[in-house]
Amino acid sequence: MFVDSHCHLDRLDLSARDNGLQSVIDAASDKDVSRMLCVAIDLQTLPEMLEIVKQFDNVYASAGVHPLHVSDGVPEIDTLLGYAADSNVIALGETGLDYFYQKDTVEQQRESFVHHLKASAESRLPVIVHTRDAREDTISILRRHVDTGVAGVLHCFTENWEMAQQAMDLNFMISFSGIITFRNAAELRDVVRQVPMENLLIETDSPYLAPVPYRGKSNEPQYVVEVAQCVADIKGLRIEEVAEITSNNFDRMFNKAVSG
Ligand SMILES: [Zn+2]
Ligand SMILES: [Zn+2]
Repeated sequence: MFVDSHCHLDRLDLSARDNGLQSVIDAASDKDVSRMLCVAIDLQTLPEMLEIVKQFDNVYASAGVHPLHVSDGVPEIDTLLGYAADSNVIALGETGLDYFYQKDTVEQQRESFVHHLKASAESRLPVIVHTRDAREDTISILRRHVDTGVAGVLHCFTENWEMAQQAMDLNFMISFSGIITFRNAAELRDVVRQVPMENLLIETDSPYLAPVPYRGKSNEPQYVVEVAQCVADIKGLRIEEVAEITSNNFDRMFNKAVSG
């Protein structure tokens, strides 16, 4: 059984599906993708997202504000803590720093990131961290503010081995998406090779970034199997082993998924 550790189910284009999101969940379970974590982007659409997640007992939620959405307002720690109390919410984020697309909101991004980390320490829910073109700042904020007893995950990892090591030193897990299947991702596959299996998660980040051979199409949780197959090929493991280890890792990191 596979877990998609990061997807955005509320952002899928369901116009061509007869049975809406149910058909996406069914297609996933046909491929043995039995659970998924639906990740929040902003607080405006979060109540609606939580309503969607509630309909499926194998879908979990996170709560938080993406670094590219902080211009709508930096979330208060108490607001995040309020969402953390929701029984479906098992993580905070995605938060972090993205200097690639937005440099003019750096201050708000940092403040928001710190708020998520403080709420994480208090609620004991791990953080889902998005980082792009901001290696040093991401690591230095994590070092200062993360509770390593809770930690979290660097999602859709595309950085180098040094950053992966620095994050793992803070008890973080590293989550890889379909990007590792792309032809031009040889360096990233080298990082996959080096990250120990017990620190590794798999995700789709759907509807974005569909893996080979679905590249260019809308991505869905069922395609996390392609990510798992790529990890298996790199590590010389059977895909069933990758499924089992990454599912166990997910339950260890997002332990509210197991404890309820
Ligand atoms: Zn992200
Ligand atoms: Zn995402």
